[in-house]
Amino acid sequence: DFGEIEKKLAEKLNDDDIGAVLMCIDAVNKVKRLKLTNCTKISGAGLEPLRGSSIIEKIDLSLVDEHHSPSIIPEPSISCDIVLPILDSIIESTKYFQFPMKWRNRSIDSEFGVFLRRCNQMWRNRDTPLCLQCEEEVPSDDRGWFVINGCGIQNNTCCGCLKHYCIDCRSDDVENDVFMIDLCDACDRWYCMECSTMDVCEICDVSCCSTCRNVRVCGSECNNKICDDCVEDERRCSACEEVFCSECQFDELICCVSCRRCNCHNCNSSWKQCVCGKTCCAECHESGDADKVHFCSLLMAAKRGDLAKVKALCESGVDIIGGRQDNGMSSILLACQNGHVDLMDYLLEQGANPNDAENYGGTCLMAAACYRHPDCVRRLIDEGADVEYAYPGDNASIIGMTAYYFSKDDDEGNLDFEEGSVIRTVELLLEAGAPVDVETSRGKTALQLLQDMLPSDDKVRRERDGLIALLQRDEES
Ligand SMILES: [Zn+2]
Ligand SMILES: [Zn+2]
Ligand SMILES: [Zn+2]
Ligand SMILES: [Zn+2]
Ligand SMILES: [Zn+2]
Ligand SMILES: [Zn+2]
Ligand SMILES: [Zn+2]
Ligand SMILES: [Zn+2]
Repeated sequence: DFGEIEKKLAEKLNDDDIGAVLMCIDAVNKVKRLKLTNCTKISGAGLEPLRGSSIIEKIDLSLVDEHHSPSIIPEPSISCDIVLPILDSIIESTKYFQFPMKWRNRSIDSEFGVFLRRCNQMWRNRDTPLCLQCEEEVPSDDRGWFVINGCGIQNNTCCGCLKHYCIDCRSDDVENDVFMIDLCDACDRWYCMECSTMDVCEICDVSCCSTCRNVRVCGSECNNKICDDCVEDERRCSACEEVFCSECQFDELICCVSCRRCNCHNCNSSWKQCVCGKTCCAECHESGDADKVHFCSLLMAAKRGDLAKVKALCESGVDIIGGRQDNGMSSILLACQNGHVDLMDYLLEQGANPNDAENYGGTCLMAAACYRHPDCVRRLIDEGADVEYAYPGDNASIIGMTAYYFSKDDDEGNLDFEEGSVIRTVELLLEAGAPVDVETSRGKTALQLLQDMLPSDDKVRRERDGLIALLQRDEES
């Protein structure tokens, strides 16, 4: 093994040096295993003294040490044309070849591809190897040593002990990713469990020798491993650095909706859950960054008409126009729904859309009308709100929706209105040309909804009768 001499020295050796060494030790009769570790300068002619050896069983031409990446930069000069004839003369005795990476992935018809086929053929026909596990003979069909069309890596043979497993024994416990012999994705060598421990990353499902790649064990009790490439912020506690596998991450980690950092349950005691159910880390909570992500302060301020608070949030960089709840409610929609004309004016000045709609399609004008705020309705109409808009759910007109909310809220015992406000609302809509007689999926027009109402008190009855008179007058004209 030239890996046993200094790397700098091995890199300087040329074919003459290698040839002289092999001659000197009578390699053709004495050497069973040869590893040309770090001999990157050779073409391969120096292997000539091995020609015809009947005792050599392993030859490693990868030029890199075990558990090292097979890729060498710049590409070494080791040549297929020079080496293959020598290898051909020793196929009979050899049990294991490790080829240089630069030779691999050649076509089946290349000289290298033909050599691999010859290896497969000869090795299949010679003495039958025993499976390391079951000690049965490895069936000849399993002895497709080299994937010829693929990479030229010797399958199912441990590069350390040169023993084999049969296909049945190879994956002893596939469920739990326990392989008796496995290919390392980093060093491109097969190892049995006795010669190298292998870890399978739970995330990318790639196996590697423990020495070739760092893995971390999931912080939960599942024992899954995670390779360094797969450790992402969403799987790691930002405080204690514990990492969790994909099966455990959602149970074990909480993510801050503002900065996206994650913390495990041991480390997140200072994290705050917002009224909306989202959680922010302590820093984001303190800094007010939470407002920029879930807009709770903004939307609560809009709901109660707190113009000063909305202005302050705007100055601190919160998107007071674009910020929404999960259901699509925005500050302008909440201002309209709750009848805050001053706030509504301010938001319109700041560029809010008078036709803004929530996720179900309810618009500002619909919110102002259904919740009986004629001042808001007037302002919205002035701002160009669409009076002919129909609710996507059941194709109801704005007047139809207003009548429906009036009757529904009274039915449910939570009708709160200033006397005359519903009539003024509908008057404004009619003046602006809003349609009335669109039949909804409930099968009733606004007029029919009002006529079918059973008003709960005299105030409701007076308002209802006024609305009916208004709609009938409109119908006649
Ligand atoms: Zn077996
Ligand atoms: Zn082994
Ligand atoms: Zn991985
Ligand atoms: Zn490896
Ligand atoms: Zn932690
Ligand atoms: Zn886990
Ligand atoms: Zn945060
Ligand atoms: Zn919130």
